[in-house]
Amino acid sequence: KSFQELGLHPDLLKGLFSMGFDKPSKIQEKALPLLLSDPPTNMIGQSQSGTGKTAAFVLTMLSRVDYNLHKPQALCLAPSRELARQIMSVITSMGKYTNVQTEYAIKDNLPKDATNITAQIIVGTPGTMMDLMRRKVSFCKSLPHQDLEVNVSHEVIDTSNVKVFVLDEADNMLDQDGLGDQTLRVKNMLPRKPIQIILFSATFPDNVRSFASKFAPNANKIEL
Ligand code: AMP
Repeated sequence: KSFQELGLHPDLLKGLFSMGFDKPSKIQEKALPLLLSDPPTNMIGQSQSGTGKTAAFVLTMLSRVDYNLHKPQALCLAPSRELARQIMSVITSMGKYTNVQTEYAIKDNLPKDATNITAQIIVGTPGTMMDLMRRKVSFCKSLPHQDLEVNVSHEVIDTSNVKVFVLDEADNMLDQDGLGDQTLRVKNMLPRKPIQIILFSATFPDNVRSFASKFAPNANKIEL
């Protein structure tokens, strides 16, 4: 199958071709039809780095966001800042011909406007993502006509439009103290409505297996 046959948007095909990707890798060919299906379904994917898994979930996020809506719609968690940066650079290259806006949620690279994130895709590490989701900004708004001042507040990350949640390298995440818990907390802060959950891991020891089945219930499972 070609990328065209997988039903990707022409702007994403242009991005892919400009990166020199002319046909899907094995994992992309397997995963993309499931990842892009409607209604969206959860996925648990077993795949090593080097197989092209990043493109699979990045294309899913880029296919599902509404570029006219300037609110977060896809969140992606990685176990390290370095990996978050790599994922971000794939999003930027593949989304080059779209109007996608992205933000980091990593400690040493906080969003330019850490009061109201308008990017559609946020990539980060669990602790910083959690901090930004918890953070509220309060400000005083005056209503001159009524000669009134009111206190209003909103979240830095408005999660009400999030529809895709990706966890990359789940095995590495669970190997690091606290990151698995923080990942679950981020998930629990998301609205109670259908959100497509995608989890990738290179290995599936027991702890990852049981985490994955709770984190991404009723998922399609694929392996390479
Ligand atoms: P990943 O497994 O996501 O870390 O990707 C491994 C490497 O394969 C990266 O350098 C990608 O740029 C490259 N890659 C991924 N998918 C394709 C593809 N369909 N065609 C050519 N290169 C690819």
